[in-house]
Amino acid sequence: EDDITEIYQVVMVGECGVGKSAVTMQFLKGFFLEDYEPTVDDRYQKIVNIEGTNVGLEIVDTAGQEAYSAIRDKYLREGDGFVLMYSVADRPSYEKIPELVKQIQKVRDSDRVPCVLVGNKSDLDPDDRISEEEGQELASSFKIPFYEVSAKGAQNVQESYISLIKLIRVQAGSI
Ligand code: GDP
Ligand code: MG
Repeated sequence: EDDITEIYQVVMVGECGVGKSAVTMQFLKGFFLEDYEPTVDDRYQKIVNIEGTNVGLEIVDTAGQEAYSAIRDKYLREGDGFVLMYSVADRPSYEKIPELVKQIQKVRDSDRVPCVLVGNKSDLDPDDRISEEEGQELASSFKIPFYEVSAKGAQNVQESYISLIKLIRVQAGSI
């Protein structure tokens, strides 16, 4: 009854420093990792139960500084779904998202690749904070789900992955 019949790869993308590693760790281990090695790509496995089905996940935490676009393209080609992350406290990281979406769509030659937009560090409130409305607006323009999350406060982390996995399963015809 613990058989894994579905395995999906989720790729974390977004600018350096937005919290891809911290959110990944919060999801996998349930704690906030203050300082994570910024330069390595890592892969993690986890089994999650979604709507009564055990789903095997491989999470690829990219470092975002791939020297060769060929390496980045490889991630974009292989992923079953993508967590598109910006930091609510870093406007350039938000403005970078449309370019990421374009890259994914180009590599996949499809505009139906499962993605979720995640605005991390919702616990911060600087003057030029990206508002929840701005996040929602961007997500709506790509017709993808949106969550404001905090790796630090463990807010909405599970929810954002689960919504992505559901999209992947629909796309794969599993549900
Ligand atoms: P990555 O380069 O996208 O993997 O970013 P990291 O996970 O290494 O995080 C970059 C920095 O942001 C680290 O100092 C983290 O402690 C911090 N950070 C990550 N998530 C949060 C969060 O939800 N809230 C706050 N306040 N800081 C965070
Ligand atoms: Mg990282």
